[in-house]
Amino acid sequence: MNAQTKIFERLANDKPLFASHQSVQKPLDGYVSTSSLYSTRRAFEQISSLSKPIIQYNPMEVWEQDTRRLPRQLAKYRREVRDFSVQHLQPFAQEIDLAEHLPVGLSHPGIDKLLKLAAKKGFFSDMLPKPLGSVPLLRYRYPLAWQQAIKVEELARSCGGLMLLLSAHNLGIAPLLMSGDLGAARRFLLPALKENNSGEPHLFAYGITEPAAGSDVEEGHGASLYKPGTVAKRVSGGWKITGRKCFISGGDIAKSMTIFAALEGEGIESWTCFLVRKNMPGFSVVRNELKMGMRASSAAELEFDHVFVPDSHVIGGLRNGWAINRSILNLSRLPVAAMAVGFAQGATDAAMDFVCRYKLGGKGLIHYQETQLELAQMVADTSAIRSLVWQSSQSWVSTQGKSALNKFYCTDLAVKVCERAMDMMSNHGGLHCNSAEKAFRDARLTQIFEGTNQINRLALIEDIQEQLMSKMS
Ligand SMILES: Cc1cc2nc3c(=O)[nH]c(=O)nc-3n(C[C@H](O)[C@H](O)[C@H](O)COP(=O)(O)OP(=O)(O)OC[C@H]3O[C@@H](n4cnc5c(N)ncnc54)[C@H](O)[C@@H]3O)c2cc1C
Repeated sequence: MNAQTKIFERLANDKPLFASHQSVQKPLDGYVSTSSLYSTRRAFEQISSLSKPIIQYNPMEVWEQDTRRLPRQLAKYRREVRDFSVQHLQPFAQEIDLAEHLPVGLSHPGIDKLLKLAAKKGFFSDMLPKPLGSVPLLRYRYPLAWQQAIKVEELARSCGGLMLLLSAHNLGIAPLLMSGDLGAARRFLLPALKENNSGEPHLFAYGITEPAAGSDVEEGHGASLYKPGTVAKRVSGGWKITGRKCFISGGDIAKSMTIFAALEGEGIESWTCFLVRKNMPGFSVVRNELKMGMRASSAAELEFDHVFVPDSHVIGGLRNGWAINRSILNLSRLPVAAMAVGFAQGATDAAMDFVCRYKLGGKGLIHYQETQLELAQMVADTSAIRSLVWQSSQSWVSTQGKSALNKFYCTDLAVKVCERAMDMMSNHGGLHCNSAEKAFRDARLTQIFEGTNQINRLALIEDIQEQLMSKMS
């Protein structure tokens, strides 16, 4: 029996600490029962039928209320992704999170099966409408950022690592979509989407980070001073790429990668996006990092040792890489904010389950008003960041300031929600086998990637720089 199983057994047998389900049927301390004349439910029964359309008692879960307010196609999609997440991610989440860190080339049982299922479900081809991709035409009326926000929140609610395993691919294909390079999209994207639609995963990874540059490849001032470490040298018929990229999500399992390199002798202004295949000679995966969270998704260090890439594999034209990268960050920071909503929701779910079952001083923890105040704050914070993400993603055009503020605000608040959940669960909140602690570790990484939250704050200021400067004279 492993340590985790022992902890689960102990929790299950902790009878004196956990209240039975029957004992929580009476009203919470400090509240009247829902059948009392003073309750909202009973009071609103007396309201005139003329007022009923605008005055209702609605004890429905926030998740259900939010879903019903979405346009029909998106509500349907949210339910579908939720079902997939509960069925295929949730049961696997704890096991994969605590599994041994495997060397490059090995993967945990279950991962391949999940990737195939997700490919069949259309998760790796959901940036384009049918018949090119998997999105039904009626749903494609709504911005991709909104659709992706709905998807990643539901996946993250179950497991951050499995969510990133299934989502990083869209970042990898983004240069093919955002560059406007129709030829490249036809050559590389469509065949891969076809494979994915048929249930055979063809994953892409996105490579900008280098061992000496994370923020410097995500903001202009640092970039203007940085001497790029990954360089493309002109040779007959193409380019030879040399250098390393690090912390690349899914870089070890991707068949194709969109890799950014400077042209030899030039700075980041020459950055160019190259499509690199896993089987190109000179390419290797050096290692996968042992991370604190999102452990089901690899963060791989990739080496390019004079990898020959033909001219046809240049995406979006020479020296257009910096613009492509900046536009992709504007798009991808919104789904990162949505991941944070999923973690906050997952931690809130875990805390709610705990306080309704745990007993303190002879009564359930939920009966303490301090607990209720904390829980109310968690529900409100989670709802607020979801509203912000949904409101911001209702446009096809993602702007730098809006995306950046979503990213840092939602991820910071989600970490706080996870901490509140762990506080409520005290000893149990610190155990590896509870989902609040896991959500905390997963959420903590969203404060770092897609630009640290410091860099995202600076990106917001950069976006309003002209406005600020106009006030200076
Ligand atoms: C789980 C995970 C997945 C990732 N996936 C990918 C991926 O798929 N593809 C990819 O290319 N990269 C990926 N990354 C890399 C990620 O984007 C970088 O780690 C991130 O940008 C931080 O870079 P860094 O560690 O080099 O920090 P640095 O740039 O070295 O920054 C160090 C510190 O200095 C601060 N700092 C830097 N510049 C400034 C400034 N001008 N003003 C104020 N403070 C500053 C930073 O905020 C940070 O606190 C991933 C990272 C993680 C953790």
